[in-house]
Amino acid sequence: MAKGTLERFFEFLNQDVKSPTETKKNAMMIRNVIVVLVPYAFLQTLAFYLMDRSWTFVFPLAFLLLYFEIFGMTINGKSRLAEALLVFALLAWCLLCVLLYGWEVGVQYFFSPLLVNILSSGFRSMKVRVLECLGLFSFMTSLFLYTVYYSPIFPMQRNAIIAQEILNTIGSFGTLMAVTLAFSQDTMKIEKKLIDYAMELTHLADTDTLTGLMNRRAAYSYFEKVTNDARNYGFFVNVAIGDIDFFKKINDTYGHDAGDAVLVFLAGVFTEFVKDKGVVARWGGEEFLFILNGMNGDDAFMMLDKLRYKIQHSDIPFGDLTLHVCMTFGLEEHDPEDPLDTTFEQADKKLYIGKQSGRNRVVM
Ligand code: GH3
Ligand code: MG
Ligand code: MG
Repeated sequence: MAKGTLERFFEFLNQDVKSPTETKKNAMMIRNVIVVLVPYAFLQTLAFYLMDRSWTFVFPLAFLLLYFEIFGMTINGKSRLAEALLVFALLAWCLLCVLLYGWEVGVQYFFSPLLVNILSSGFRSMKVRVLECLGLFSFMTSLFLYTVYYSPIFPMQRNAIIAQEILNTIGSFGTLMAVTLAFSQDTMKIEKKLIDYAMELTHLADTDTLTGLMNRRAAYSYFEKVTNDARNYGFFVNVAIGDIDFFKKINDTYGHDAGDAVLVFLAGVFTEFVKDKGVVARWGGEEFLFILNGMNGDDAFMMLDKLRYKIQHSDIPFGDLTLHVCMTFGLEEHDPEDPLDTTFEQADKKLYIGKQSGRNRVVM
């Protein structure tokens, strides 16, 4: 079969149910089972035809047609009815085969997929399902006891028994596979969806929506972690708070959107700058936090001063305009003996000093 045809077939099997109040899960399970039962019923039609009383082929043929009907129900939002019909059809098929040909045909293997279906179906309560299991058990035991006391209506020849055993083993195993695969696939899909969703939520909780940078909360927990590592492995950690100079003027002159464009542009420059050196976060408003690892305060000062220079000479596009800003930084090398907040407070104080002493500078 060509790949396209196979894909279209799976798409057809996977199509959603038309009813908004039904999940796809049960419909999918029923369709999988029907895909196994249709060739099974077809082969049984042939097998019955080839046996001594050929007219009995009408029985499996009737089941074959019924399976097509049940398949259609799963598409038209009648999965509940389809499932009930499928269960009754399989029970009726077991009863018919045992009455006609006896226990030896092995049709009772179909009780295993029926049991799995009852236990994993989403349609009924646990209590009802336990009762159904008991019903299934009683039905199977009664069928067996019946065959102990009564002979089959049409006893079969040895070869026919062998053929039936094989057909029923394949049919029932296939049905069992179809039922369990449908449910395990569904569970895996739900698990993946939950993991993706949790990851997205974590990302959202840690990210500033405008700039895409880490937010204050995420930066703080990063700082907790990195200072811990710094203590264990003995490296320097520096904290700098950078604030855009006279940013209010940008908003007042060109509008809030221009201010936003500046923040987004700078976020890109900062991200490029901190690569391999640490992290940058939006600390709030037009303030950014830099955590620079593995360099002493002097080196951090030189790097930040280069960044400051770069920003001062950057052309920031906004529509037809080109905007220019500069920034002031307060830099503090973290002392492992100090509480974490002290480092932020010191960096903030130095930022203030930088603002007081004329802006566009790094103060350490
Ligand atoms: P200074 O040099 O003293 O820092 O002056 P400044 O104007 O930058 O400081 P000020 O604190 O007076 O103003 C900060 C402005 O930043 C005010 C506020 O509207 C603006 N701002 C804060 N967050 C955003 C934002 O997300 N987008 C835009 N467009 N503006 C913001
Ligand atoms: Mg500010
Ligand atoms: Mg400012």
